[in-house]
Amino acid sequence: MPTSNFPNLTVLDHPLIQHKLSLLRDRDTSTRDFKQLVSEIAMLMAYEVTKDLPTEPVEVDTPLERMTGRQVAGKKLTLVPILRAGLGMVEGIAQLIPSARVGHIGLYRDHDTLKPIDYYFKIPAAEIERDFFILDPMLATGGSAVAAVGALKEAGARRIRFLCLVAAPEGVGRMLELHPEVPVFAAALDRQLNPQGYILPGLGDAGDRLFGTRTLA
Ligand code: URA
Repeated sequence: MPTSNFPNLTVLDHPLIQHKLSLLRDRDTSTRDFKQLVSEIAMLMAYEVTKDLPTEPVEVDTPLERMTGRQVAGKKLTLVPILRAGLGMVEGIAQLIPSARVGHIGLYRDHDTLKPIDYYFKIPAAEIERDFFILDPMLATGGSAVAAVGALKEAGARRIRFLCLVAAPEGVGRMLELHPEVPVFAAALDRQLNPQGYILPGLGDAGDRLFGTRTLA
């Protein structure tokens, strides 16, 4: 449902999403289960996030007769994971939408300016008319999200949605301020950021937990 404080945010409170998110948050969840859960939640989120896609009639020959079915209209979707944690969300969505293309954005934070710099940006120009789903499990300060949307817009993208698993009010607010027309979809809106920029209560470092490079206690 859309939240009143943040008109750009929709929290997907489907019981299966919430159930799997609680498992994901558990510090004792293994890397293997974490990966599986991220994938499953992303798939369930994609089901909700695509529910307003336009459809068009399509003629189908069943074994018995010809009928008119429906198919998703327009160009194919492009998934754009933000490296590296966003990669964990690709497979689940691609299982649901096998025709989706996948671009990639890599960002790092400049030590002096603290601004995100994109070091990798691979979105074929011919795909710029598509619907873009930017994927990043954690919307924390919003720095990467804002930069990723900015880079896609600069490349000409117009229809952009942002999908994350856990959002912090700070990050959603920053997206609202700088890219108000980009809808943000999250499985949860958490309380706040800690001084290190981790989301509370959150789930820790999503990239470390996905790839087994966990450094947090
Ligand atoms: N990135 C993460 O992986 N976790 C957080 O809590 C915040 C940013």
